[in-house]
Amino acid sequence: MLYRHFLPAVLPRSAASTPRALILTYHRVENLESDPQMLCVTPECFAQQMYVLRKHFRVVSLTHLVNQIKSGGDISGMVAVSFDDGYADNLLLAKPVLEQHEIPATAFIASDYIGGQATFWWDELEAIFLDKQSLPQKLRLVVDGQRYSWDFAGDALRASDEEKPGAWHVGCETIPSRRHRAYQTLHQVLYTRASEEREALLDKLRAWSGLHPHARQSHRTMTQEELSRLAASPLIEIGAHTATHPALSMLTPQQQGIEIRSGKSRLEQMIGRETTSFAYPYGSLTSFNDTSSKLVREAGFALACTTFCDSVRLGCDTYQLPRLPARNWNGDDFERYLSGWMTHQVN
Ligand SMILES: [Zn+2]
Repeated sequence: MLYRHFLPAVLPRSAASTPRALILTYHRVENLESDPQMLCVTPECFAQQMYVLRKHFRVVSLTHLVNQIKSGGDISGMVAVSFDDGYADNLLLAKPVLEQHEIPATAFIASDYIGGQATFWWDELEAIFLDKQSLPQKLRLVVDGQRYSWDFAGDALRASDEEKPGAWHVGCETIPSRRHRAYQTLHQVLYTRASEEREALLDKLRAWSGLHPHARQSHRTMTQEELSRLAASPLIEIGAHTATHPALSMLTPQQQGIEIRSGKSRLEQMIGRETTSFAYPYGSLTSFNDTSSKLVREAGFALACTTFCDSVRLGCDTYQLPRLPARNWNGDDFERYLSGWMTHQVN
């Protein structure tokens, strides 16, 4: 099923002939019960998608695409693949499929999450509210003077027995329960916090829910040894994604610089080579600013990716490259989605 808001708007006729390329964003290739942020593609769908890419499009590395943009070369029909964050399944389940179809990819890694048995905060929030079977009845929080209060009495985790467990995601029109509503509100609150504040809030939620910080096997990031194995593939480029995955716009310029530079140098130590590609954490308009782009350029990166949902054209800003999210679509839906963006004709 295609989500309509991911399809391109209809453009004037003249725009349809503009040569365009696409950069795809993946996060995870895995079978998960619950995927509220729509970050995961199943191994079956991923295999179909890579088959479609190889068969119907000009698949290139991100660096090659950007070099073409910089030199004003022909980019029409090109597609580059990227992965964000550093989940272990990138190596264990995605890499074999990429190799089978000879598809290059750039993996953007948040360096502090490698080898540390750490869990991303959004996965922990999901574990507390959407995975845990029982929760205390009431939750009260005060964040920056704003009061939040929920009463979960009689709240079912799922809307009905017929509903598939984990089928709900943030793109759904209905919110099945107060647990889901609390999850959604707190996701927004945590997203805007700097790392220490975020950790302090998570500590409160851990103590309240009785869930101790732990890395679920299904949600773990790579070990250092696994990152080295991923980096050893000639098809894979390792890119930087800061140290602790903050929304850079929430930080002072000095803090931003530390996140950007330390993430780069730590990764380079781990893989033993230079990293020249960068992706802004979250990548949306509110998550970074012009200072972030300037600092990324000054740190020695040759390109930077956002999550602005658009195709790539000649003359675009290579420090604010748009990318399209790849969702859990079968091969046919995936091909329609890419073709729609490539030609700007809504299917
Ligand atoms: Zn990320």
